[in-house]
Amino acid sequence: MKYALVTGASRGLGRAIAIKLAGNGIPVIINYQSNEAAAEEVKGIIEAAGGNAELMKFNVGVMAEVDAAIDVWEAAHPDDYIAYLVNNAGIRRDNLMFMMPAEDWHSVINTTLNGFYYVTRKVLPKMIMRKHGGRIINMASLSGLKGLPGQTNYSSAKAAIIGATKALAQEVAARGVTVNAIAPGFIETDMTKELPVDELKATIPAQRFGKPEEVASLAAFLASDEAAYITGDVISINGGLYT
Ligand code: NAP
Repeated sequence: MKYALVTGASRGLGRAIAIKLAGNGIPVIINYQSNEAAAEEVKGIIEAAGGNAELMKFNVGVMAEVDAAIDVWEAAHPDDYIAYLVNNAGIRRDNLMFMMPAEDWHSVINTTLNGFYYVTRKVLPKMIMRKHGGRIINMASLSGLKGLPGQTNYSSAKAAIIGATKALAQEVAARGVTVNAIAPGFIETDMTKELPVDELKATIPAQRFGKPEEVASLAAFLASDEAAYITGDVISINGGLYT
């Protein structure tokens, strides 16, 4: 069976993507870092709707944890492989550059960029070998396209993910694997709940934040057979904020 691994699927965008992919009949692996109760809730929602879901705990930014968790899964699933990888886990630690602690620089880069590397390099060999149309979807951001003040760490990490998406797409296209990035603007999740929402809405042409389900629909399309000829691209979903 072809599974989907969604990193950071216990909350926010990852949660909505896991539920959407499972609703489309894809068995889903729900990765989370620490919030087991939230991850269990996502699993429950998927199973109640007749879908198939498993939990997989690891910190995307710790290579040994990633390797160990995926090794255990592969040993328990000799006939299955991860055909859909959604590199979604991410954090933000905003601060003006001159005040940014080294820890906040490194943790954001490590989670987004090293996390992409650790998980993708582990999953990619089987995806390439099977030649069954693998899909890699990387969660970038508007911040990685235009840069946002107070987010030099986050903008750097997301811009790097866009570069990685474009490079890897060219490496694996001949194997039928597509690699794309999604660049959301402001979406209603825990990550954005402490922002000045009314002030920001006034800057968005659509005059609202996006919903996680709207991002999940885009991810599901990119994961589908219909999107087989889209690769190396960055798709914005931002209510017209920046294109
Ligand atoms: P969120 O609500 O804060 O959820 C973050 C998720 O990532 C949680 O499931 C969390 O797991 C997991 N996570 C965090 N660090 C992890 C790690 N080191 N290893 C494994 N899992 C980890 O965030 P979100 O808004 O859904 O954002 C998801 C992605 O979209 C991120 O990459 C973010 O940068 C990007 N994005 C979001 C927005 C937005 O407006 N929300 C806009 C642009 C881009 P636990 O529950 O275990 O903590």
